[in-house]
Amino acid sequence: MEKEETRKELKVSAIENGTVIDHIPSNSVFQVVKILNLDEFDNQIFLGTNLDSYKYGKKGIIKVSNRFFKADEINKIALVAPTATLIVIKNFSVVEKKKVEIPDGVEKIVKCFNPNCITNNEPIRTRFTVIDKDELRLKCHYCEKITAKDNISFL
Ligand SMILES: [Zn+2]
Repeated sequence: MEKEETRKELKVSAIENGTVIDHIPSNSVFQVVKILNLDEFDNQIFLGTNLDSYKYGKKGIIKVSNRFFKADEINKIALVAPTATLIVIKNFSVVEKKKVEIPDGVEKIVKCFNPNCITNNEPIRTRFTVIDKDELRLKCHYCEKITAKDNISFL
């Protein structure tokens, strides 16, 4: 009986192929879903929030079947969930596990905070230098204004 339960649990939580995004701050889970457009993705997705984590107290987790994230998407994850770990699963086995890293520069994924910036008025890709990785402050290459963590919106 107990074995049956365990197996059921595994079936729900394991994915055959795909990516697990672990150690997401609990309050960022839905933001990660949004920036990755997972609400429009039609494969299996498991979400968990407020799970107990030895390291962080509470954490969130997202498991996405048949989806492997590209560098741009991983940078987005790092910007909203800097503690996240990405686990790539193939054939029920972990083939890669890595912590996300806030990049030194951010291109095209974030909108400049300054409404007068050329990137908000002409078809020009945004480009930022990350000047503070802890507080998350991005300096625009064009207008030199700082887009801070609370003002970040994704393109
Ligand atoms: Zn700008």
